[in-house]
Amino acid sequence: MKKKIVILGSTGSIGEQALQIITFHPQRFQVVGLAAGRNIKRLAEQCCIFRPRMVATGYEELAPALQEMLEEGPEVLAGEEGLCQVAAMEEADVVLMALSGAVGIMPTVEALKAGHRVALANKETLVAAGDLVMGLARDHGVPVIPVDSEHSAIFQCIRDEAKYVKNLWLTASGGPFHDYTPDALQRVTPEMALQHPNWSMGKKVTIDSATLMNKGLEVIEAHHLFDVDYDHIKVLVHRQSIVHSMVEFVDGAFLGHLGVPDMRIPIQYALSYPERWNSPTSPLDLAEVGLLQFEKPDTVKFPALELAFQAGRRGGTLPAVMNAANEEAVHSFLTGDLGFTEIPDIIARVMSRHQVIMSPDLAQIQAADTWARDCFRSMNINQTADSR
Ligand code: MG
Repeated sequence: MKKKIVILGSTGSIGEQALQIITFHPQRFQVVGLAAGRNIKRLAEQCCIFRPRMVATGYEELAPALQEMLEEGPEVLAGEEGLCQVAAMEEADVVLMALSGAVGIMPTVEALKAGHRVALANKETLVAAGDLVMGLARDHGVPVIPVDSEHSAIFQCIRDEAKYVKNLWLTASGGPFHDYTPDALQRVTPEMALQHPNWSMGKKVTIDSATLMNKGLEVIEAHHLFDVDYDHIKVLVHRQSIVHSMVEFVDGAFLGHLGVPDMRIPIQYALSYPERWNSPTSPLDLAEVGLLQFEKPDTVKFPALELAFQAGRRGGTLPAVMNAANEEAVHSFLTGDLGFTEIPDIIARVMSRHQVIMSPDLAQIQAADTWARDCFRSMNINQTADSR
């Protein structure tokens, strides 16, 4: 029996690598649904190769063009509702959630409600709506398998020993600007920030890696996935990106997960779980790597990590607000409207203005997200005017 797979975000970095894994194991998988955002040309190509029954673009206005490219192909859907319909497809065994940003929340909710196992690569979903999403997964008795390399590592190290966990140790590459002076950080351009030293990833997560916000989002993600409080989630900078994260147990034992920095390993594990299959990745040569080094993150130079701890500890709607402000800030940085070091500053200012609602429902989370984006834009406009 082939596993029936739905991929949301199929034209992004994670989606493309997942399709490589599926191509590598043609006897094990059948793609039944695909969804993406604006890149409908690539989405149409993928449909010709993998022949899904349903396909969706997140943008209503692109649906006619997609339909035209596919002729008598799959059923074409669009908008948030279209993404949700693909996520909830009856025949799906695993839904790989690889959309980037808060747009992943509703489709994840629908996939869980439909009783599908979710392979979750969209960290923003857990950051903004972690209590709700993990609650749904528990209620429906479906597992959420992390795809993020750190969380996949922890998931594999914990196994059935969650009650013995003392600390989770998330490793961070430190990003491309680890050794920069504060002055040099001010002059960082989008082109510089998009060059990640170790990992090949999408734009959003690459910029987040450079600010360390990515690690901050991952701290909140880890809190929800593994039900560990923030005092017991630690971050270590590990420049080589070989140890993907570690679990410290009460007896002093550390279990770590090592491998080459290649996202196809955690992607495949999320699809093969609880089995392990051979993979197309190159082997790890530790003698070649030589040294494994660890150090504390510099939260003065990279304040975004601390912001995420603050947002996570406070809880309620604050993580959703931080996440939305960050998405907007990253977008503004990429278009050249915001400086690199202004990213954490403006997120902090949006967070400080928010009236936190505790135990929010989905509508309140979405309202907080919208509020944060509006607040960001009003500040960003003022800031640009001030600097003229
Ligand atoms: Mg990661």
